[in-house]
Amino acid sequence: DLILFWHRRDLRISDNTGLAAAKQQSPKVVGVFCLDPNILERDDVAPVRVTYMIGCLQKLQERYAQVGSQLLILHANPVQGIPALAEAINAKAVFWNWDVEPYSQERDRTIINALKEKGIQFLNQNWDQILNSPEQLRTGSNQPYTVYTPFWKNWITKPKANPVETLQNVEGLTEAEQEIAKLAGALTLPSAKDLGFIWDGELIISPGEAAAQERLEEFTAKAITEYQEQRNFPAVDGTSQLSAALKFGVIGIRTVWQATIEALENSRSEETAVNIRTWQQELAWREFYQHAMYNFPELADGAFRDTFKNFPWQTNEEHFQAWCEGRTGYPIVDAAMRQMNESGWMHNRCRMIVASFLTKDLLINPQLGEKYFMQHLIDGDLSANNGGWQWSASSGMDPKPVRIFNPASQTQKFDPEGEYIRQWVSELRSVDTEYLVTGKIPSLERHAVGYPEPIVDHKIQQQQFKLRYQQQKVLS
Ligand code: FAD
Repeated sequence: DLILFWHRRDLRISDNTGLAAAKQQSPKVVGVFCLDPNILERDDVAPVRVTYMIGCLQKLQERYAQVGSQLLILHANPVQGIPALAEAINAKAVFWNWDVEPYSQERDRTIINALKEKGIQFLNQNWDQILNSPEQLRTGSNQPYTVYTPFWKNWITKPKANPVETLQNVEGLTEAEQEIAKLAGALTLPSAKDLGFIWDGELIISPGEAAAQERLEEFTAKAITEYQEQRNFPAVDGTSQLSAALKFGVIGIRTVWQATIEALENSRSEETAVNIRTWQQELAWREFYQHAMYNFPELADGAFRDTFKNFPWQTNEEHFQAWCEGRTGYPIVDAAMRQMNESGWMHNRCRMIVASFLTKDLLINPQLGEKYFMQHLIDGDLSANNGGWQWSASSGMDPKPVRIFNPASQTQKFDPEGEYIRQWVSELRSVDTEYLVTGKIPSLERHAVGYPEPIVDHKIQQQQFKLRYQQQKVLS
């Protein structure tokens, strides 16, 4: 019996829950990936992300060939494409792993019905990209969590599965069946350019399972032991940069977890263990936001907290453009935005700084920033990005009522030598460190190097924000 395995956010054959379950059902397993126009034609797709994804698919095809099978590629709406392909190649069942996003949930329900109508089984119901399912995590009163700390305390006590077996020695399609698959729409993998996405820059992480595994090993061998401190400095290479691999499931989350357990076992001091635990907490943030998206799909449409549902955000296209392009006159903000525009990735500390700046200094709707991030991030992910933006805008699941980042004090703490600023804002390279970290660059000097005046005054703007917040609180 042939089983069709539909890859979505699990572009790997190792430690893949659904794929391992498919292999247990039958020795004949064929993979498929669907280039979904509903996703690719949205206006929040980053060329860098598609480029990475296509690279990963290429590697995945190679992996399938190594184990004796194929990864088919469809360019179609999966609602029609998947059942039609399954029927054409006479698949007995279609397997896949669950996804938390509202779009995927709805799409999957429709496809399950379409498969049923054709008499094809949908057997698999696996959570694969998270360590614990949303059903496993409930508060004392049996509600989903909306606050991270109690979530973490409960989550860390729950058992976590070991990595599952890598797909090996499978049977694929015969040549005749491959011809049938072609007739049903299977095609060769297009390049990102063929799909209209042009990214000429380098990728922060090479595509594919092997590169992600290597990155994990490198990070857990050393940087993880200093993570708690080093992760805050954007000029330092102190974080894993595994976010894109995790977004597309190029590495299994159980494999990542196991690496942290091994690092803990090898740690020789309590101090080292604390650093490793801190990184585990970041993985828990990732799960917290995925569970949140699953439990509260309305998060995708706007503010979680009532106070922010009708917030009087300001419309100012000029300010928004200056923020997008890294021309606000605030060096740390501009460095961060240019890092994202040029490399497709931004350091977490800076994501918080620029999100605070857009919402608290420019008083611009966080949804605009959220979308701009999706248009530029290699790791752009609905749950994490929405969670980060709602946290920064104070509109989401953060118990602190209003959090405002001061760009100057953030720089003094986390880029004290102005190294990161100089790396990304080339016109500021020769400017004194003191000026860079306080943001108080004299007008003459700004003019001389071609760097703009601050577009707003942080002190005045934060008062404005607080005032509006107080008014909304009364109204809501
Ligand atoms: P590490 O520090 O090595 O962390 C390990 C992994 O944990 C990350 O790869 C990521 O999967 C997860 N993680 C870490 N921090 C967070 C967090 N705060 N929330 C959720 N998961 C986390 N992350 C994304 O993956 N995609 C996004 O689109 C995204 N948008 C963000 C937007 C804003 C406004 C903010 C404040 C944060 C956003 N983050 C997003 C979270 C975080 O900034 C990135 O995950 C992190 O910078 C990726 O770098 P890293 O892999 O080196 O992380």
